Amino acid sequence: MSDNKLTQTIVYGLGAMGRPMARNLHKNGLLIGVKNRTEGKAKSISSELGLKIFDNDQAMFQAADSVLTCVSADRDLLDVIDRLVNLLPAGAVVIDSSTVSPKTARKVAKDLKAKGIGFLDAPVSGGVEGAKKGTLSIMIGGERSDYKRASDIFAAIGSQITHMGKVGQGQATKAVNQVMVAGVAQAVCTTLAFAENCNLDLKKTIEVLGAGAAGNWFLDNRGQTMIKDEFNVGFKLQLLLKDLKICQEALQDMDTQVPLVNDCIKDYAELVKRGYGDEDISALIRLRRELFEKEDNDA
Ligand code: NAP
Repeated sequence: MSDNKLTQTIVYGLGAMGRPMARNLHKNGLLIGVKNRTEGKAKSISSELGLKIFDNDQAMFQAADSVLTCVSADRDLLDVIDRLVNLLPAGAVVIDSSTVSPKTARKVAKDLKAKGIGFLDAPVSGGVEGAKKGTLSIMIGGERSDYKRASDIFAAIGSQITHMGKVGQGQATKAVNQVMVAGVAQAVCTTLAFAENCNLDLKKTIEVLGAGAAGNWFLDNRGQTMIKDEFNVGFKLQLLLKDLKICQEALQDMDTQVPLVNDCIKDYAELVKRGYGDEDISALIRLRRELFEKEDNDA
C-alpha cells in the first residue's frame, strides 16, 4: 500500500485557494469529491466539474485515499480533522495546505496516526494567481513515503515542490517565508510612499528600481497597483496578520522577539481595525503615506 500513488482525492475547504486547486486536481484526473462547511460552494463546484454524487459524506470519504485540506486557521483545521478521523479509511493520507503553526501540524499528525492515517503539512506560497495557474511553491513536512505517494497531487497544483523534512517542517518553512514577505512589503510600501513625496514619476521609478539591486516580486507585481490605490488583488492582509502571529508564537518558543515581526503585526492590526482587512497587503502604503502628511498649520 505504501508505494501506491494517491489518486482518489477530496478537497476540503473551497475558499479562494481551495477552489482553483480542486479544478487543477480535476484536470489531472485526481479529484473524486469536494467538501465545504458552507455546502452551497461544494454543490456549485461539484456540478461545474461534473463530479459523482455520493449518498453521504461517509460514502465519499470511504472512497478516498487522500484529502487536501485548505481552511483558514489552526482551530478550523483541528475541527476538520476531528471529523476526518472518523470518516477516512486507514492508509489514507491528509495533505494540509492551510497556513497553521508547526505545533498544530504535529498535533494533527499524531491524532491521525492513531487511526492509521498519514499526514503531510504542505503550506503553499504563490497566492490565488499561483493556485489558478497550478504553479504554487509547496513546502512539505512528513514521512518521505507519504510524500512520494502524493507526488501526482503536488505536481497538479504546484511547480516548486520541496520536501523539507519531518512533520511541522513545512509550516516552519512557511513561517520563515511570511516574515520575509512582510519585510519586503514593509520596504516597498515605505519606499514608494517616499518616492511619491519626492514627486517622482512613479511608473518610471518602479521600472528602474525593478531592474536593479532593489528589484523584487512584490515591487513588480504590486507596485503599479498600489500607486493607483488598487488593493483588491492578491493576499488579504488579515491572513498575513494571522500568519505573523504564528511566527511570533514560534519565536516566543525560542525565547526571542523579532522587531520586524512585532512592527508588522502592529501595522496590519491597525489596518484591520480601520476596516481594511480584506485588502491586499500592499495597503500598508496607506499607513506609510501618513508619515509624510503635514499638519495644516505647517503650510
Ligand atoms: P478563504 O477564501 O477565506 O477560505 C477559507 C476556507 O476555510 C473556506 O472554505 C471556509 O469555509 C473554510 N473554513 C473556515 N473555517 C472552517 C471550519 N471551522 N470548518 C470547516 N471549514 C472552515 O481563505 P483562503 O484564501 O482560501 O486561504 C485558506 C488557507 O490558505 C489559509 O490558511 C491561508 O493562510 C492560506 N493561504 C492563502 C493564500 C491566499 O493568497 N489567499 C496564499 C497562501 C496560503 P466556508 O466557505 O464555509 O467559510
